[in-house]
Amino acid sequence: MPTHDVLVIGAGLAGQRAALAAAEAGASVGILSKVHPVRSHSNAAQGGINAALGEEDTWESHAFDTVKGSDYLGDQDAIEIMCKAAPQEILDLEHLGVTFHRNEQGRLGTRAFGGASAARTYYVADITGQAILHVLYEQLMKHDEIYRYEEWFNTAIVQDDGGQVAGVVARNMRDGTMELFGAKAVILACGGNGQIYNPTTNALICTGDGIALAYRAGAPLMDMEMVQYHPTTLQGNGLLITEGARGEGAHLYNAQGERFMEKYAPNKLELASRDVVSRAEQTEINEGRGFPDGTVALDITVVPRKRIHEALREIVNVGRDFAGVDITKEPIHIKPGNHYVMGGVKTNVDGQTEIPGLYAAGEVACVSVHGGNRLGANSLLDTLIFGGRSGRHAAQRAKTMAQPTASREHLEHEEQSVREIVGRDRTGRRVSEIKAELGSTMDKYAAVFRDEEGLNQALEIVRRLKEEAKTVAIDDKGSVFNQDLFGALELGYMLDNAECVVVGALERKESRGAQFRTDYPERNDDEWLKHINLTYSEDGPQISYSDVTITQWQPEARTY
Ligand SMILES: Cc1cc2nc3c(=O)[nH]c(=O)nc-3n(C[C@H](O)[C@H](O)[C@H](O)COP(=O)(O)OP(=O)(O)OC[C@H]3O[C@@H](n4cnc5c(N)ncnc54)[C@H](O)[C@@H]3O)c2cc1C
Repeated sequence: MPTHDVLVIGAGLAGQRAALAAAEAGASVGILSKVHPVRSHSNAAQGGINAALGEEDTWESHAFDTVKGSDYLGDQDAIEIMCKAAPQEILDLEHLGVTFHRNEQGRLGTRAFGGASAARTYYVADITGQAILHVLYEQLMKHDEIYRYEEWFNTAIVQDDGGQVAGVVARNMRDGTMELFGAKAVILACGGNGQIYNPTTNALICTGDGIALAYRAGAPLMDMEMVQYHPTTLQGNGLLITEGARGEGAHLYNAQGERFMEKYAPNKLELASRDVVSRAEQTEINEGRGFPDGTVALDITVVPRKRIHEALREIVNVGRDFAGVDITKEPIHIKPGNHYVMGGVKTNVDGQTEIPGLYAAGEVACVSVHGGNRLGANSLLDTLIFGGRSGRHAAQRAKTMAQPTASREHLEHEEQSVREIVGRDRTGRRVSEIKAELGSTMDKYAAVFRDEEGLNQALEIVRRLKEEAKTVAIDDKGSVFNQDLFGALELGYMLDNAECVVVGALERKESRGAQFRTDYPERNDDEWLKHINLTYSEDGPQISYSDVTITQWQPEARTY
């Protein structure tokens, strides 16, 4: 049985940062990922990473913008920690070899992002995530005490008789063998759940595995209803046009040629926070001022061509290859699309969940620094700061304890479940069919605007699909890269995620951040300035509440 002090599940930015921090704190570390680490979804991050590093900027300003962006649902102690640590994190990354953009004076250059009162987004053209991911991977390979399990799929978290985490069960995707891993601490860094929606900006691997694994193990999830719709995604396929485009000065227009953000956010216009811009676009579309294909237009031609080719070069390719549009010459049609889950596994500021030895960091987790709405370029920062803190804390904790006992019964149970799925007769629908119905259901009823009737419809459909998933058809009976099997496992995770999103959205009877209830259009601090926690039970998620941590910023009306 491979055994480590700290086992990290997921090798995106959060996982890699956690693994490095744990190793530097003296732990033996395993990092396990269902895709090769540099293919993790962090690779897709385009626009940049925030830090108040400029002379005129302050961490307090960054923190306040984040609190306001969160619609006052973010925990302010966590936000303070993140924003204070951000400048040093950027410098550390630069010293490790991340080639951040430098301006004409040779200093680190910034771009403006939505909801920010200063231009504090540091970037590498529009491939920031890729640039950081590759540099961290180089660092991982330098550490002998970090063992990499690449293309291993985690199916369960293992606890000992006292409830302490003792390891995980995972399947080697290359040959189908299953293994029990021992660990004193497990850090979930499995990313988000965008695939429960269709379309989404997220990669196929973003199926909410870590959120469901923690939930099934008994860890509460928090604020799952808070799902971000990004204002600029391509119709149909969900591909993202980075917020960096608006940061560089691009404008939004409706089909009547009006720069409509003047109505909704007169001070910040296109650079209001994402929930505000997405609602504005959707209102224009719903009220008949969009284009016939259900979109509005993003005009990037107002940005000087030299600057487009320097700072938005991937977007030039995306426009050409996926929309047939030369963004340097004509506007591109966009709409709000699923992008990010603000909720996730409830953790404290060191990444600890309510299960001893289980940690979570990155998009899988809810610390919570994003509350009801994440500011663009705060996610990469979240992954690194709280990935690092989780790794350090888990390593220190591991020093104080003996290796818990991981019973082989867990392995046998998981092997049996997989055998049952693969050996099943073909009676049910395919994974892709159930997944498609799930995605369109979520996009229809749990999107930018929601109401009780639609959410009840969604819950009924999701629960029916959960039943159907129990007999989902598997054609591939093999053991080498059986994507059919992994699809079935991921489908189960996705349905747990979707059920929690809808139950949370039904429960929160107010409008705050990304949750806009047309039947409860106002924010209601008296009753709903609180987190919604969901805990697994046979009968569905059990609801409880916890307080929002306020330090220095009292809730006030949010205008841009
Ligand atoms: C198109 C796009 C652009 C973005 N641009 C920006 C940006 O400019 N700035 C910003 O701040 N944020 C951006 N974001 C958000 C940000 O990229 C993500 O929130 C962040 O990268 C998530 O990192 P992570 O480490 O938490 O997870 P990921 O990078 O998603 O990594 C998840 C890891 O978990 C592993 N995993 C998952 N399930 C299992 C399992 N069952 N078994 C084993 N391994 C598993 C995967 O293999 C992977 O290694 C963007 C998001 C998208 C979709």
